[in-house]
Amino acid sequence: TKKIVIVGGVAGGSTAAARLRRLDEKSEIVLFEKGEYISFANCGLPYYIGGTIKERDALLVQTVESMSTRYNLDIRNFSEVVGINRENQTIQVKNVQTGEVYEETYDELILSPGARPVVPPIPGINDAKALFTLRNIPDTDRIKSYIDNESPKRAVVVGGGFIGLEMAENLHERGMEVTIVEMSNQVLAPLDIETASIIHKHLEEKGVNLILGDGVKAFENNGTKVITNEGKEIETDMILLSIGVRPENELAQKANLNLGERGGIQVNEYLQTNDPHIYAIGDAIEIKDYVNGNPTMVPLAWPANRQGRAVADNIYGKKVSYKGTMGTSIAKVFDYNVATTGNNEKTLKRVGIDYEVIHVHPASHAGYYPGASPIALKVIFNKETGKIYGAQAVGMDGIDKRIDVIATAIKGGLTVLDLPDLELAYAPPFSSAKDPVNMAGYAATNIVEGTTETVQWHEIDEIVANGGILVDVRNPDEVAKGHIKEAKNIPLDQLRNRLEELPKDQTIHVNCQVGLRGYVATRILQENGFKAKNLDGGWKTYQVVN
Ligand code: FAD
Repeated sequence: TKKIVIVGGVAGGSTAAARLRRLDEKSEIVLFEKGEYISFANCGLPYYIGGTIKERDALLVQTVESMSTRYNLDIRNFSEVVGINRENQTIQVKNVQTGEVYEETYDELILSPGARPVVPPIPGINDAKALFTLRNIPDTDRIKSYIDNESPKRAVVVGGGFIGLEMAENLHERGMEVTIVEMSNQVLAPLDIETASIIHKHLEEKGVNLILGDGVKAFENNGTKVITNEGKEIETDMILLSIGVRPENELAQKANLNLGERGGIQVNEYLQTNDPHIYAIGDAIEIKDYVNGNPTMVPLAWPANRQGRAVADNIYGKKVSYKGTMGTSIAKVFDYNVATTGNNEKTLKRVGIDYEVIHVHPASHAGYYPGASPIALKVIFNKETGKIYGAQAVGMDGIDKRIDVIATAIKGGLTVLDLPDLELAYAPPFSSAKDPVNMAGYAATNIVEGTTETVQWHEIDEIVANGGILVDVRNPDEVAKGHIKEAKNIPLDQLRNRLEELPKDQTIHVNCQVGLRGYVATRILQENGFKAKNLDGGWKTYQVVN
């Protein structure tokens, strides 16, 4: 019988343990977890702090007892693995309660130690009395009891990633005045700026004080004052530091396992490290970006779970290759949901892949059925082949479904030309006969097939500066609510009769509200011998950043 040892008992580790047992009733499986809890719901922690999840027990998906019994596992909590001897195939384990260190042998070793919050040496950080990071149940207990007992009125969240925004909402839910300080010019790095900007506006609408493009320089007065690089001073009663995570790689490093540039444990497609008896999974590893093929790190629960199962299969000779991570993710930010899959423009630029973009703004379901809300959906693709590189969506409803459909399309190797042909479920409360994903497919197909050409929101200023021609085809009442200053207003229904007002020797840049009428207008202009381009996503995409 084999002896399989697992380091880390939460997302990846416990998934691997359960699958190993289901594949083999006989092997010895030992799972080490340095904390008290195994298999807890990391992703639920912010909602327990905020009060949406009422019972602490609900976070404990499995306990040491329940999981040991169900899967016949030797689970040892409060047990930190502190060393690996690869030659002898042994590990050193420290009982963190008694300090005792002992050895344990293994035939196969799985590392799933996760990633821990980055805590930089910001001046004053050690004196800050109410400064927290959030990763596990003890962190959660600390934050919750501080809020319950001290009733803080103000909070500063440092870092506007998924955890930062979820916490900002939940602290606001607890009645606090919340400030987010984010070094970059946008929150949620996996998005591009025009998608993130919708969230910026919403955060401000909700009364969150959002500071972008500015980092924390120091904490003063025991952490009751946050000083930013730009000299802002924010009084606060608590601080949540959520500026990212770094892989727990010390064990792997000491054992001379290969690490990537950013410290992730390197594995092959079977999740094996450079030692064939040591596997690694989850937040601690470097994986291949599914879209562009480059090494990257994506600390999310789906990859950890998928890899946990695959690693068990591989140990039992059922070869399952892990094909890479697309980074499909979603978050609730107050009344909005925001989701993304695949690569964004920033990543594609960095790795040197040419791409085209479309923005559409369809309704979440039929407009005549109550409760429909707009979806801002962006798809990034290859202009020649239609290959889908990524998508982003923001709105109040139906966001998860659209991004999941596109994520499935990417995995299935579909192109934007296939999206119009997806037959998706429709009745008025759910969608439209042309689903937003179909709409995105039509818009992208028009570009691949050369039926229309577009300009992007960020190109307009330069077009204006060069004296380009802009035509706004909305109705005057819409134009009155906000428009590109230099655009001449010719409502779409008057366009055919006013063609003589436009030059034939220059490109006419058309805009409407969301891009649909603009598309019709460019078609009319092209058919009449004009050169025309449509502002992709219309005024709605343009105005959110400008
Ligand atoms: P973990 O689940 O972190 O487990 C690693 C465990 O290993 C830890 O318990 C640690 O104590 C233990 N360990 C480390 N070193 C040792 C050692 N030497 N010896 C013994 N034990 C050790 N992802 C999503 O996809 N969606 C979400 O909504 C989402 N929300 C999140 C919210 C929060 C607050 C947090 C913290 C994370 C969230 N995540 C979310 C990320 C997700 O939880 C992780 O990607 C996932 O848990 C990674 O699994 P893992 O097994 O690699 O690491």
